[in-house]
Amino acid sequence: MPHNRLSHTLGALLGLHAGDSLGATLEFLPWSQIQTLHPTGLRSIIGGGPFSWTPGHATDDTDLTRAVLLSYLDYENWWNSSDSKAPGASFDITKSCADHSLSWLEGRWPDRDPGSGPRDIGGATYTGLANYQKSGDPRKCGAGNGRAGNGSLMRCVPTALFVYDVKSTTTEERKRRVRESMEISSITHNDVRCTVACAAYNEIVAALVGGMEVVKAVGEGKRVADELDCPAVFKAIEKGEATSVVRLAKYGPGDEFPDQTSGFVLQSLTLAVAAVLDVRPLEDVLVDVVRIGGDTDTNGAIAGGLLGARDGVEKIPKKWLEKLQFREEFETAAKRILELQGRL
Ligand SMILES: [Mg+2]
Repeated sequence: MPHNRLSHTLGALLGLHAGDSLGATLEFLPWSQIQTLHPTGLRSIIGGGPFSWTPGHATDDTDLTRAVLLSYLDYENWWNSSDSKAPGASFDITKSCADHSLSWLEGRWPDRDPGSGPRDIGGATYTGLANYQKSGDPRKCGAGNGRAGNGSLMRCVPTALFVYDVKSTTTEERKRRVRESMEISSITHNDVRCTVACAAYNEIVAALVGGMEVVKAVGEGKRVADELDCPAVFKAIEKGEATSVVRLAKYGPGDEFPDQTSGFVLQSLTLAVAAVLDVRPLEDVLVDVVRIGGDTDTNGAIAGGLLGARDGVEKIPKKWLEKLQFREEFETAAKRILELQGRL
């Protein structure tokens, strides 16, 4: 492989996990308090926070990314089995994601007792999955318009990494990636700002993992927001292009990013775009994203996914990687998917 797709694929998954685990310690704290506690930023994964995490434990961001990752693994296993050869056979990736997410909601999950709820869950995520629990229809369970949190953006990245059909043309591959990004978002977050944010984010990731230069890759995100006729997402990406993570971390979010704790999807997207355009090493950028405060774990996860896709897994500090709960599982699953796709 001319560009190391495996390294950048693992970088996206483990960058997201690392950002989540780093930020979990400071979730909900305002910038000013973080400044006092960690004047130069928190540089180690130490756990704690409002939900008393052990260091490196996945929070909802990484857990639900795992749900989507397992669905792509299921799909590739199915595709390579005799089941897929039966007449009329099909695999519903959206339903598979909803089922794995429901397993998480209901406690069928590593380190959890069956029947126990997750320690931390977003409002729209809960509404969507509770609707799915009742209806069983993954296309009619979203929390509805106006619910525009970052809960689907934080879990969407596996689609960017694994929707790559070597037999199809680039256009077909891109169409499928956009469609699946939006449908998987809609299980919980069907507000158009959320579905298009996921599609745009995933086009940026797919471009980076494919070896495209970062400024151009961000342009791919704007291109799809434009095609999907969503000026709000287009503008959020443009705002990211004009935002300095260094400045926000040093002087605080102020009026530029009001209400850091809201978890508004476009705010997280803007920050992630600003982060990926920051030329410093991944570690320094991610530490600064978390320093800004508010929804630190999710902002860290979303920015971490882009930074890892940009830099590759080797650029994630070893002291972070060795703490991550799902490191081995994510590595094994990603390698297996690429292998089944004939790309390793
Ligand atoms: Mg979280």
